[in-house]
Parts: sequence; structure tokens; C-alpha cells
Amino acid sequence: MTGTGSPRAREKAAPRFAIIGAGMSGILSAIKLREAGITDFTVYEKADRVGGTWRENTYPGVACDVPSHLYSYSFALNPDWSHPYSPGAEIQAYFERVAADHGLDAHIRYGDAVESCRFADHRWHLETAAGVRDEVDFVIAATGVLHRPVVPDIEGLESFAGARFHSARWDHSVPLAGRRIGVIGTGSTAVQIVSALVDEVGHLDLFQRTAQWVLPQMNAPFTDEEKSGFREHPERMAELHENLSRLFADGFSNAVVDADSPQMKMIEEACRQNLEQTVVDPDLRERLRPDYRAACKRLIVSTDFYEAIQRPNAELVTAGIERIEPAGVRTADGRLHELDVLVLATGFDAGAFMRPMSVMGRDGLDLDVAWSPRPNAYLSVSIPGFPNLFMLNGPNGPVGNFSLIEVAELQLAYILQLVDRVRAGERREICATTAAMERFEAERVAAASKTVWVTGCRSWYLDDRGVPASWPWPFDRFREAMRAPAIDDFEIA
Ligand code: NAP
Repeated sequence: MTGTGSPRAREKAAPRFAIIGAGMSGILSAIKLREAGITDFTVYEKADRVGGTWRENTYPGVACDVPSHLYSYSFALNPDWSHPYSPGAEIQAYFERVAADHGLDAHIRYGDAVESCRFADHRWHLETAAGVRDEVDFVIAATGVLHRPVVPDIEGLESFAGARFHSARWDHSVPLAGRRIGVIGTGSTAVQIVSALVDEVGHLDLFQRTAQWVLPQMNAPFTDEEKSGFREHPERMAELHENLSRLFADGFSNAVVDADSPQMKMIEEACRQNLEQTVVDPDLRERLRPDYRAACKRLIVSTDFYEAIQRPNAELVTAGIERIEPAGVRTADGRLHELDVLVLATGFDAGAFMRPMSVMGRDGLDLDVAWSPRPNAYLSVSIPGFPNLFMLNGPNGPVGNFSLIEVAELQLAYILQLVDRVRAGERREICATTAAMERFEAERVAAASKTVWVTGCRSWYLDDRGVPASWPWPFDRFREAMRAPAIDDFEIA
């Protein structure tokens, strides 16, 4: 029996949480926990500031290609966004402001990474790099999706005599004006860098292994009148947020999960026309033309990439990279592209999630073993054998051209319902059952075969089997799944 004064009752009344990461989803978790009356938590942040991906990605041109009035917390809409698609520094400032407005600093332990989480005696035992130990009832892994940069395995990379860095580790001390810059990669990052830098540098080489479809984007700044309209009529902002969510997430998600849909054909046609109408030189146009379908890789959205690559000081290099030498990049046609600065816009390890943290679940189950050969989770939030540990934007959730804020908000509301289940009763542990995860995974893999992501391209969406590690259904189905847990899919012990 548990009386109100017993240690057991106190524990149940006030569960302790650890939130790992103070990026977009960590900030969200802290705010929502407090709203739910849970105040006993610590946010562990390895860096010295909040912001996650927006803190780490400071490359020239960094911006969000999800509309700003959608890429905002639903409870902290922002009348001051400068553009329909705002730059990264502004997004970083937004997250810092929201965290400050909610007084989160007192809860955040900066400059210390959680190195291990071990589940024993119904609780998670955490240890940080600085040797701090913590014991909590619940862990929320808000560790982000794309955070471990991939450095390509190209012969001679180390020998390059100029400055060299990954796009997510931009070295702002390196001068660029008038110099010879090489960019490897043609993903969303590289495209933004090329557009931002071409007019500043002396010469720009873009090393393209795979051409990309580019959807045109309009991004005229908001006028002062529009901004004051948003400020004076917050309901207009809320309406815009809702409309964008419907239009953008639903319209786009319905298209990509059905490769034969009319919406998908419209997107393909818009990309094709953008290429035909914007790129003047037929040879360049053909070298920029992908040989796979639009949105098979994550779709690039840009106001001016095609203009940028047609500047006289820009060169699209399509000969394969043979090796890197002290003076620059040697391509398979024997040419040496001499460079002062080499930027690796070569992407991220999409399967890392909360790793390299060591995570040991029930009975010493190692996450690296549970996630071998690939990461997996029930509805992307819970892993069998890892009770009371929940992920935001975990494996196989909606990724791509979506607002991950909207995804995280839906997931967190779902997670809080799971937490309530444990708090309300006499039980102490909750996680998805293996059967539920396997059923979900089988359905997911079957549905993935109809998506545009499997129509013949290489991308970070695809796992080791070539199956997209993503939500393969319309976004409405995700909303529905997150509305309330199907409690039979959980083991409550
Ligand atoms: P990415 O999409 O994974 O692109 C990496 C690029 O590097 C690809 O073009 C790839 O070529 C190339 N590459 C990798 N290794 C190479 C090698 N050894 N030799 C030659 N080329 C090589 O990475 P990203 O551009 O950083 O974008 C990652 C994701 O971050 C995006 O898909 C998006 O989800 C997110 N992002 C979002 C925004 C936004 O505005 N919201 C902005 C930037 C990034 P292949 O295509 O041939 O593999």
C-alpha cells in the first residue's frame, strides 16, 4: 500500500525526467513538461547554447526551406519573421528567445554531454562526460536527426593544403572574398552555400556527383505592414500556421507517399519547367538534369541556385572526383581544380539518432545491439526493451520537407499520455511491445514501396535494405496515430 507520505507515493507524484539535447525538440519538451506540472527535470546540452542544428549550421546561406510561419512552435508564433523562409541565424535567435521567455536556463546543464544511460531498478541512470550522475524515471531523447557530419572517404583529403571543413563545422575565420572555393555535394546545404557565396568569391567549383531537381521558391521579405498585421492580429498568424500545415505538410506528404499521384506530377512538372526556363546553356542544362524522379531524394527548394551556377565565376564539375591533392581536387578527366578552400557539404549519418551515447535498456540490452542492423522504433517514439525512454524525431518518423516542429509537438503530446499511464497506476515502466513494433515495421515497409523515395535514386532516406527510413503514409495518418496511444501495443510493468 502506498500512503501519500511514503517514498513510493512521492516518487509517483513527482517523476524526474532527463531531456537530452536543448535543440528544437528539447526546448519543446521542457516547456510542455512544465505545462503538465512536471518541474523535476534537467535538460542536458553538450554545447554552451540552445538551438541544436541551428546552432551548429552557420554556413553562408543557411535557411529553412519549410515556411517560417509553419516552422514555429504552435504556442509561440512569431510575427517578426523577416521572410516566408527565414535565415538560420534568425531561427537560432527565435529558439534562444523562446527558451529565455520560458525561463528554461535554470533547467539546462550546458557544456556536458550525456555519455551513458543505463536502465536498472525501474530508473534510468545517466552519466555525463564530466562525470555527473543522475537518476531519473523518464528520458526524452531530443537528440536531433542529422547531427553527425559525414566526412567523405576521398583519397588525399587530408593532404589538401588550403582550408577544409564540413558545412556543419563552418570555419568563419577563413576569408572567402576573391578566393577559389570548392564545394563537394549538391544537397540542400550545398545549394544554399553556392547561392550565398558565388558573388563574394573569386571562383566557385561545385563538385556534383548526382544532379538534383530544384523546386522554385518565392521569398520576398515580409513588409512592415505585414509584420504589424501579424502582431496586431495573432489569430491571422494562427490561421496561417494552420493553412500552411494543411497545404505544405499534407499536400506534399500526400504526393511523396504516392509516386503516381497527380500532386507528384505537378511537383515534377514545376521542377522540370524551372530547369528548362532558367538554365540557358543546353550543355549545362543537361548536366543539371537528374536521371531520376523529383522528390526521390529530398527535394531542393531554391530561389536562385540555377542563377548562381550560371555566373561566369561558377563552374559545375561533373567529372568524378579522383583524389584530393595539396593544390585542389583532381577529377577523373585528369584536370586539377585548384582551390584555396574546400567545403564538404557531404551530409550526415542519418542512422545515428541518440548515438554515440551508450544506452543500455532492460536486462543490459545494448541499443547498438537492438538497433543492429538498423535503427527501429514503434511509431518512431518507443523501443521495446527500453522502458520510459522516448524519442522525438526518432527512426522512421516523418522526415523530409516537413516541419519537424509539428512532428515533435504531436509526438510529445503522445509521449505525455504514455507517461500519464504510468503515473496514474501502480506500474513504473512502459514501452512498446516487440510484437507491436514488428507489426508496425511490416506495414511500414510494405507501404514504403509505393513512395517516390524508391523510384530509383540514392539518398539518406534509404536504409541498408534500400527501404526509406521514413513515415510512408499521408501526414493525417501520423496525426491520427499520435492522437492517443493504442495501449495494447504497450507493455506496462
Ligand atoms: P545530403 O542531402 O546528404 O547531401 C550530401 C551531398 O554530398 C550529396 O550531393 C552527395 O552526393 C554528396 N556526397 C557525399 N559523399 C560524396 C563523395 N564521396 N563524393 C562526392 N559527393 C559526395 O546533405 P545536406 O545537403 O547537408 O542535407 C542533409 C539534409 O539536411 C537535407 O536533406 C535536409 O533534410 C536537411 N537540410 C535542410 C535544410 C533546410 O533548408 N530545411 C537545409 C540544409 C539541410 P550523392 O547525391 O551522389 O549521394
